[in-house]
Amino acid sequence: MIEQAQHVLKHVFGYDNFRPLQQEVITNIVSGKDTLVIMPTGGGKSLCYQIPALLFSGITIVVSPLISLMKDQVEQLKQLGVSAVFLNSSLSVQEYQHNIDMILRKDVKLIYLAPETLLQRKILSLLSTIDIACITIDEAHCISEWGHEFRPEYRQLLQLRSIFPHAIYVALTATATPQVQKDICNNLNLDTQNTFIASFDRTNLYLQVLPKKSPLQQTAQFLDSFKQQSGIIYCLTRRQVDELTAHLHYQGYSVLPYHAGLSDEERAANQDRFIRDDVSIIVATVAFGMGINKPNIRFILHYDLPKNIEGYYQQIGRAGRDGLPAHCLLLFGYSDIQKLRYFIERMTEHEQAHAITHLQAIVGYAETEDCRREILINYFGEDYSTENCKLCDNCLEEKTPKTDVTVAAQKFLSCVKRTGEIFGASYIIDVLRGSSSAKVMSNNHHQLSTYNIGLEYNKDTWMLLARQLIQQGILVQDLRLGSLKLNANSWQVMRGQRAVRARLVSTSSRSNKLLDELNYDQILFSQLRQYRKELADNMDVPPYTIFSDKSLQEMCIYYPQTRTSMLAIHGVGDAKFEKYGDAFLDIIMHYCAQNNIQEKPKSILASNKIKKRKIEPRKYIMVSDRYNHGETIDQLKNDLNVTRNTILSHLYHFMMDGGKLRQDKDLLSLSELSEVQQKQVLFLFKELGFERLKPVYQACSEEVSYDELHILRVYYLAQAS
Ligand code: ADP
Ligand code: ZN
Repeated sequence: MIEQAQHVLKHVFGYDNFRPLQQEVITNIVSGKDTLVIMPTGGGKSLCYQIPALLFSGITIVVSPLISLMKDQVEQLKQLGVSAVFLNSSLSVQEYQHNIDMILRKDVKLIYLAPETLLQRKILSLLSTIDIACITIDEAHCISEWGHEFRPEYRQLLQLRSIFPHAIYVALTATATPQVQKDICNNLNLDTQNTFIASFDRTNLYLQVLPKKSPLQQTAQFLDSFKQQSGIIYCLTRRQVDELTAHLHYQGYSVLPYHAGLSDEERAANQDRFIRDDVSIIVATVAFGMGINKPNIRFILHYDLPKNIEGYYQQIGRAGRDGLPAHCLLLFGYSDIQKLRYFIERMTEHEQAHAITHLQAIVGYAETEDCRREILINYFGEDYSTENCKLCDNCLEEKTPKTDVTVAAQKFLSCVKRTGEIFGASYIIDVLRGSSSAKVMSNNHHQLSTYNIGLEYNKDTWMLLARQLIQQGILVQDLRLGSLKLNANSWQVMRGQRAVRARLVSTSSRSNKLLDELNYDQILFSQLRQYRKELADNMDVPPYTIFSDKSLQEMCIYYPQTRTSMLAIHGVGDAKFEKYGDAFLDIIMHYCAQNNIQEKPKSILASNKIKKRKIEPRKYIMVSDRYNHGETIDQLKNDLNVTRNTILSHLYHFMMDGGKLRQDKDLLSLSELSEVQQKQVLFLFKELGFERLKPVYQACSEEVSYDELHILRVYYLAQAS
């Protein structure tokens, strides 16, 4: 079974290897067991049920909460040559009826539905007349009141059990808390033994935090390293979104805003333009991102401190879904803690307690000197034991050694004490550095013994020291009020019983290896990208549904010039090759000829292909069967929405596998050659063999097209069989 799954992975999806747990999940599902899958965003959940759907003889129902997600999935499946439809309120009456007809004709492998649509009586009675192999519940956390997106309709899905007692039930989510998992299993009556939890470590995301010094400048510098690439900038408030968008726009960046204050139309339009690569950067509040499936988001910049780690993880999780490196930068300034405190003050007391714990955790993440990945992963309850993740700023930094800062710490702590433990760090530093601000004066703090005794450091350095004291537990910050207080450790330091060591100079980051690795031909890439964009616009689909960035990048590393080498490229399956392969090959060949570049073999693949060639897709049998029952090639082509060549190649495979085709005079009528030419070609097949078309093509002085040769080859074999 897993061999068939591998075959589908390569030939339909164009991928060489399974991602972690995909194979285990697929094996479990196809062996007929209900399954719960927990994988982080971008982990590859869709494939876990799409591959079984292609292996089952019956139909798979997919319950999905968001119309935009359904549309996107169905579009991507169509591009892969997989027949899928969705049913929801966004369809016109005709479209809806067309989809129903396709379902009744059993012409689809997957049906996507919103839960409320599925639970309608007429839909249920329609579906109960057909063979439903599997019921997949995507975003299954919607079933739990503990999840952040509870949907009451999801609770009613249990009744499906009695309507479709023989179907296999699969639930998938990216929410990892044990409570939600338990709820899902209880509500869907799933066996907890069959739960698969993937690691929350996204190893293609580079994590970095920088002190927020001059955020506009830092942002511009960051963006300049991602020319023409897609990314999201998250801000805390709508106002900040508008201001930053205006600023970046003025600077010439390709940006649009997104927040709840814009009209529905404007939001939808901006999102759409981002998805279609018309605009590179979206500046947004956290309102942006749900239902975005864009795989090639290369960076996430947090312009402001996020409110909690869950949100932060979800937001950075939107980057790099294609598995290519993505850069997640957080600009962290202490004034942001104050901004968040402003929100927290407006909450109820109960909410405040939660919000402060969350805030403490994210500040801890921002300030840590340890591996950031470890902090995130541990936060989600998973162990992380890698010594050096090599993918966060802290692990990559050349650490400058810590120095003894006991005396400075003593000065700082005494100043906290003398000003009454009611002020924040910024005020304490003002006093230490002898500021004559009105506030210091009116508090009479210029008369304290700690006034003007801290000129050895500038304000930033004192701030670093203050934060390190907090991190080391030598000073306590009341996150609600911002004030600093002493504890037993502080007194030990002040009494000279404890030394303090800290790192007060900013460290230099080594370059990020992951991002340096991307060595592909940028010029060819931009040509292919531009062509992809034109195609996508003509077809009214997002560019990534044609080929992913990763596919284009591999084309720009290996320069494939033949069908075989094109099929070895990541993400190039049979259907996509059929639709777009030639056009992209043309561009590559032209470029290589102009620049005298040779194709480079993608050798690891060769062995895979040989191994997998033995197993053929089942589709060719289905197609040939229908053909033998009297349907014509053109009927099949229209019905299955594929090219004539695809049908011909199915028939060819069928015969190569020993199948017999009906005798069909009409087959010849597809050919536009004269009778004499036809006879000549058929003769050549006999003389030169039919496995390869090229010799026959050459023998005809290259005057008979390959399309013709495909037709005549099938005719030739059908006669002979
Ligand atoms: P999720 O639903 O878990 O957020 P998706 O199913 O959308 O993730 O997958 C994220 C991306 O990874 C998609 O572009 C998908 O095509 C790609 N992908 C999934 N599985 C594989 C694989 N085995 N090899 C390569 N790419 C994969
Ligand atoms: Zn690390």
